[in-house]
Amino acid sequence: MAKKKEETKEIKKEEIMQEQEVKEEVETEGPAVAAAAPDEANMLSEKEIKEVEKEKRPAQKTNVDAWIPKTALGKKVKTGEITNIDQILDEGKKVLEYQIVDVLLPTLETDLLMIGQSKGKFGGGKRRAFRQTQKKTKEGNKPKFTTYSVIGNKDGYVGLGLGKAKETVPAREKAFRNAKLNMMKVTRGCGSWECNCKTPHSIPYKAHAKCGSVEITLIPAPKGTGLCIEKECAKILALAGIKDVWSKIIGQSNTKMNTIKACEMALKNLTTTRVNQETKVKLSVWQGSSAKTAEAVE
Ligand SMILES: [Zn+2]
Repeated sequence: MAKKKEETKEIKKEEIMQEQEVKEEVETEGPAVAAAAPDEANMLSEKEIKEVEKEKRPAQKTNVDAWIPKTALGKKVKTGEITNIDQILDEGKKVLEYQIVDVLLPTLETDLLMIGQSKGKFGGGKRRAFRQTQKKTKEGNKPKFTTYSVIGNKDGYVGLGLGKAKETVPAREKAFRNAKLNMMKVTRGCGSWECNCKTPHSIPYKAHAKCGSVEITLIPAPKGTGLCIEKECAKILALAGIKDVWSKIIGQSNTKMNTIKACEMALKNLTTTRVNQETKVKLSVWQGSSAKTAEAVE
């Protein structure tokens, strides 16, 4: 019975489709063709999206010799006057060339955050790295792809970037570039009373931030806890070099953009919180790379 029903349904659908086609042909020939083309393009791009998502960690190494710096900061980096990224971040200077970050932080890893949904029947709605939106025009639907990327060295430096383009690959490249321009120093430590190990595996104190309705609280955790947090935020924290954390999230956390932004702001709040020297030693507050700070403390 079920099969028969399906068959009849299919037949009906086909009939409807044919009717529509006929109507469109009768009305005008041009627009019908144009309307069909973008749909095909979308079908193709769906496959492409999967391929682009697969190669999540491309070897992003710029050729330093071929790079001609345009800004004063870039020139200083190229000539070797600036050898540490802290010199830039501590002074609050703005990085306008992504190659600067490539030179100063050679061991960067990248990841894409799932902000989009897949389209189609049979459930669809699966999380995808690309958010696909469309603009209606006379020529048909014009798709656009947005993606959010994280970039970090798993040792105290992390950046987030948004990229939009008409195709997936340029959107991803833009996101990586923007992420490099948004690099920030992450404060780490061990603020858990259960642990007290004085290594920067967690965060030194609670951090709280809000974006839209999403409120996020990061809580220090002892060694071996792992990242007990929403998936996309876990990606950010992992690339920042935080290994153990507990969390609390309130609001519409399915709005991924807001969740990601709240997480970023919470990380920034960690750094902007002012702590006296005594507490710093107690909670072993570290900023940036653990190796460099270890030397400084000793
Ligand atoms: Zn600890």
